Amino acid sequence: MRPYLLLTPGPLTTTETVKEAMMSDWCTWDEDYNVGVVENIRRRLVELATSRPDEYTAVLMQGSGTFCVEATLGSVVRPADRLLVAANGAYGKRMGVIAEYYRLQCHVMKFDETEAVDPAKIDAYLTEHEDVTHVSVVHCETTTGVLNPLSEIAAVVKRHGKTLIVDAMSSFGGVPIDMAGLGIDFMISSANKCIQGVPGFGFIIARRSLLEQCKGVARSLSLDLYDQWAAMEQGRGKWRFTSPTHVVRAFMQALAELEAEGGVAARHARYAENHRTLVSGMRALGFKTLLPDEVQSPVITSFYYPSADFDFKAFYTALKTRGFVIYPGKISQADTFRIGDVFPQDFVRLTEAVKETGF
Ligand SMILES: *Cc1c(COP(=O)(O)O)cnc(C)c1O
Repeated sequence: MRPYLLLTPGPLTTTETVKEAMMSDWCTWDEDYNVGVVENIRRRLVELATSRPDEYTAVLMQGSGTFCVEATLGSVVRPADRLLVAANGAYGKRMGVIAEYYRLQCHVMKFDETEAVDPAKIDAYLTEHEDVTHVSVVHCETTTGVLNPLSEIAAVVKRHGKTLIVDAMSSFGGVPIDMAGLGIDFMISSANKCIQGVPGFGFIIARRSLLEQCKGVARSLSLDLYDQWAAMEQGRGKWRFTSPTHVVRAFMQALAELEAEGGVAARHARYAENHRTLVSGMRALGFKTLLPDEVQSPVITSFYYPSADFDFKAFYTALKTRGFVIYPGKISQADTFRIGDVFPQDFVRLTEAVKETGF
């Protein structure tokens, strides 16, 4: 069942019990599924995301995380609005590409990939461009592992009175976030990252009062966030179109396991310990991290190739035969490792395996 550990940004290694939860078939219009599974998940997601659950609501959406980012930008930002995207990696840039497809009025503010998004630059831009209505930012930029300073960014965006959209794909569930405390209006994540479910759908947690105003904004039928939400609200957990039932049921199990672990704070502590174990082991072998420790997230870590002639493919294969699958870098000279349902001990074994490979 587990030929190797996936140390990749998600899909990642899931528990046996999450996989076992997929062993029954569900009827998409029966209460057992709609109320027992879907509504249960929606309620729990809101409780995980915010200290003021009454003000927020959750929508589940078929597809991978990108579908949810696209559904959000395409259903929330109107043609007359202006969007500012802060981008310090591939996922930030992808939001800019989505905005182009939808012909939104959008400015992409680019930062270096090894730098965090600078709240002062957002502040300056918003001061100069009062017509901006929405700001979107990636929390953990999975490209490199940079954890952007979400509280500071949110404080700036809120001071200017703009709507804040956060791609928290690779942080939600693994890094504590309080949407109400920070003033986040829309937050997007997916089943197969820090909540440790299997891939097949994502979700958006939205400020209810804002989502209620988004009827008719979407320029896509299947990615209409408002309509998907309205159908789920009115139908008590009913999806507009076929839902990935097995995957959704597995996600409910993953949420229960997150709770059993002690919630987001406990998972964050485990990821942080994993990260420390990984980095100290790899540094002892002479590997260098791409990022300075101050901007590094605990969820994904990039390492420089140890030499110019480093053969990543051979290194990858040597680790795979030892039971570990790592992730190639998205920027030119880095290969990246990602933490799933793994423990510090796994990283001790990993660094032993790296040593054995002789690279
Ligand atoms: C994984 C991820 C996404 C979505 O990618 P998909 O391949 O569509 O699942 C978006 N943003 C970030 C930051 C991610 O880590």
